[in-house]
Amino acid sequence: MSLLRRANRGELPPGPGVEVLHRLPRTEPDPEGRPRRPRRGLPREPPAAPAGVQGRTASEAYEAAWTWANLEFLAEAAGVCSRCSAALSESVTVCESHTAEEDVCAACGNRHAVQFSADCPNCINDLRGPFVLKLVSHTELLAFLTAHGLNPVAPSRDSVAAVDAVHMDYEEEVCSREPFEARFTFSADGDTLSLTVDDDLQVVDVER
Ligand SMILES: [Zn+2]
Ligand SMILES: [Zn+2]
Repeated sequence: MSLLRRANRGELPPGPGVEVLHRLPRTEPDPEGRPRRPRRGLPREPPAAPAGVQGRTASEAYEAAWTWANLEFLAEAAGVCSRCSAALSESVTVCESHTAEEDVCAACGNRHAVQFSADCPNCINDLRGPFVLKLVSHTELLAFLTAHGLNPVAPSRDSVAAVDAVHMDYEEEVCSREPFEARFTFSADGDTLSLTVDDDLQVVDVER
C-alpha cells in the first residue's frame, strides 16, 4: 500500500503539518463515487519505497517521497525517461470544449485543457497530466520559483504547498490548436511568468 494511503488511513504516525489529500491518486473515488481529481499538486502520487519510510517521521517520509517523485518529473520534462534514460515520445492534447472554472471539466475530466503525454519506447514508463509536466525543468520556471524563495527540487514540508500552487494554479491560453501554440502563466506573490509553447512543445517566448 502506498505511503499516502497509509497516511490517509492513519496508519503512519502523524507528523507536524502533514497534509496529503491534495496528492491523492487520480483514480481515488470521492464520497459520491465519482473519480477524484487533484486540485493541487502534480498528478502522480509520490512513490513510497520501504527504505523511504524507515527511520523517518511521516512528514520526513512525505518530503522524501515528494522529492523522489519530483526528480522523475524533472527528468521526464527534459524528455529523459526517469527509469531507463531513453528519449521519451511526447505529445499534447487540447480539450475542445473545456469548461473547468472551479473544478474539473465535464468533457475531459481534467482541470486544465492542455494535457501532456510522454511514453517511453524502451520500458513501461509513461506520463500523463497537465502541460506543466513538460515545463517543470525549464530554466525560467525553475528561476521563477527560486526567485520567490521556493526550492523546486527539494522543498521543505512548509513550502511544498507553495511549490505545488505555482505548478498547478496556472492560467492557460490556447492561441492555436493546429499548429499547437499555447501560453501558460504562472503566479507567485503577485508576480507572473508566461511561457509560450509551440508545436514542437518548446518554449518560444518568455514574459515576466
Ligand atoms: Zn475539458
Ligand atoms: Zn524508459
